[in-house]
Amino acid sequence: TCDDCLLEFFDSNHRRYHYPFLNCTNCGPRLTIIQSAPYDRERTTMSAFTMCESCQAEYDDPTDRRFHAQPTACSKCGPHLSSLPESDSPLLTMTRALVGGKIVALKGLGGYHLCCDARSEETVLRLRQRKHREEKPFAIMLRDLDQVRNFCEVNEIEAKMLTAPSRPIVLLKKQSEIEIAEAVAPRNRQLGVMLPSTPWHHFLMHQAPFPIVMTSGNLTDEPIAYQDDGAIQRLGPIADVMVTHNRPIHLRCDDSVSRCVAGEFAILRRARGFAPSPIRLPFEIREPILALGGQMKSTFALGRDRHAILSHHLGELGYLDAFQAYQQTIEHYQDLFNINPQLLAHDLHPDYASTRYAKQRASRLLGVQHHHAHLASCMAEHGLHERTLGVIFDGTGFGTDETIWGGEFLVGDYHDFDRVLHLRPVLMIGGEKAVREPWRMALSHLLDAGLPLDHLCSRVDPQSVRVVEQMWTRKLNTVPTSSMGRLFDAVAVLAGLREAVSFEGQAAMDLEQVSDAVSDHIYPFEVGSEIDTRPMIRAIMQDRQQSVDASVIGRRFHSTVVQMIVQGCERVGVENVALSGGCFMNALLTEETSRELTQRGFRVYRQCQVPCNDGGLSLGQLAIAAAFQS
Ligand code: ZN
Ligand code: ZN
Ligand code: FE
Repeated sequence: TCDDCLLEFFDSNHRRYHYPFLNCTNCGPRLTIIQSAPYDRERTTMSAFTMCESCQAEYDDPTDRRFHAQPTACSKCGPHLSSLPESDSPLLTMTRALVGGKIVALKGLGGYHLCCDARSEETVLRLRQRKHREEKPFAIMLRDLDQVRNFCEVNEIEAKMLTAPSRPIVLLKKQSEIEIAEAVAPRNRQLGVMLPSTPWHHFLMHQAPFPIVMTSGNLTDEPIAYQDDGAIQRLGPIADVMVTHNRPIHLRCDDSVSRCVAGEFAILRRARGFAPSPIRLPFEIREPILALGGQMKSTFALGRDRHAILSHHLGELGYLDAFQAYQQTIEHYQDLFNINPQLLAHDLHPDYASTRYAKQRASRLLGVQHHHAHLASCMAEHGLHERTLGVIFDGTGFGTDETIWGGEFLVGDYHDFDRVLHLRPVLMIGGEKAVREPWRMALSHLLDAGLPLDHLCSRVDPQSVRVVEQMWTRKLNTVPTSSMGRLFDAVAVLAGLREAVSFEGQAAMDLEQVSDAVSDHIYPFEVGSEIDTRPMIRAIMQDRQQSVDASVIGRRFHSTVVQMIVQGCERVGVENVALSGGCFMNALLTEETSRELTQRGFRVYRQCQVPCNDGGLSLGQLAIAAAFQS
């Protein structure tokens, strides 16, 4: 909502006073209400509302701020809020419920949020219980920048991100001793914060000027609820009060998430406020391309001429509901942008839902290696053409040798790449289980380094440890992995932080947050044909035996990884270095790496407008497919 509209909203003499759906050509909904192209009111979910005379007059007046504002409306002719249980003033019902410690399901721009008073430990825990979400942090909404400064540290870039019209969630460092329930972001030194984006959010924060949890209206990892019938069914049992409205959401869209990394804006989840604005490519696309992305944090990209249309975040395709939405959204975007793809690019992983989808469509296909796509994504964002050294560190990606990669130094361009260096592989035991139970990775690293397992046995059921050890010895249900993300997991366990996680990357996140000691020295490692981390694992275990604090071990580990990158880059000797892959969401790692590389004369490129995690894969696949055509 723009400032002009806000002034009207809070002006008791204005005809749109407290009208929650006011908007103008400078603000309001777009992506979530369009049913088909071109963008005209009759092809949006506003078509059911006929403009009143006053609104029509503004709409027809070229000098008016609402000239051809497709979703314009007022209280006489436009959509309305309503609540369950019913009331005359849904806005006040919502506010009172939140003040009274209730959980509210609130329909927003791209879906439902679940909201509650973020100060109340008991209320937030109740929400966690009902939502079946144990630990994943909740985002909160605050009224304005001044209020954010009472709870979090905010630098200039973060202030700009918070107040941008796109209003993403921004990850900020919590201040100590603040009045926010620990259950909002358990064991987390950060808070995801956003400022109000719709008029009714502004109203809410005006009337209830305290921190409010604002989390996607879903159960654990299901996609966000957006259709009213489904929402009542799914969110009814979670929420005490529902506040909804009769402007249908045609396309669901999550909140975007961002973070300041190494002094720059970095998007981690690209959705509301960003998609589908096109990304300009450094090359021409000959025939339209569809790139299908990965499996987690999925997005797809459509390319034509010199532009890539990157979809909004579509989540984890392992859920049937999410996969259906993914397929429908592809068709919707193709239709909206009138792009009929002639070539489909997909990940090499045979079990990704996106790969299977590609193979179903009768079209020309191009399989793209996962980390090559990460490299190309970063190159395309920065318009690079020359061969670049990609330091691609992430969780898991399918390698050309059918093992799992993820700690990679690749030299390449859009056409091809060489895998010039990587982490020494260890066994990932039990497939996906090794992601949810990082102690399995710790076990693998310990055995690989020839160390005993007694440290693990004191923290994990010894019986399970023996079983997994047997699997390691006999190579049962194991696959070698060079993943840096899994090494972070293992070190988090070895540092004493946690043994199991409730979402991917949680252990690595813990490790980053805890590592606030001053960097003193680094652990030993060897760079030969591979990066051998066994000396480091042994040194970490020595630290453990001497009861060195996790904050020190974590800090030493981060600096060690930075030196692995520095030595790797010096050995390869390519001046342009692209940092990509989910590990670079880690600000500590990314900042130190950028500084060290820059000091040594490397030119460092990071991802800012496109996520460095798997949300950015589709852009890289698209760039590679474009090169393949030419
Ligand atoms: Zn406006
Ligand atoms: Zn009207
Ligand atoms: Fe990845």
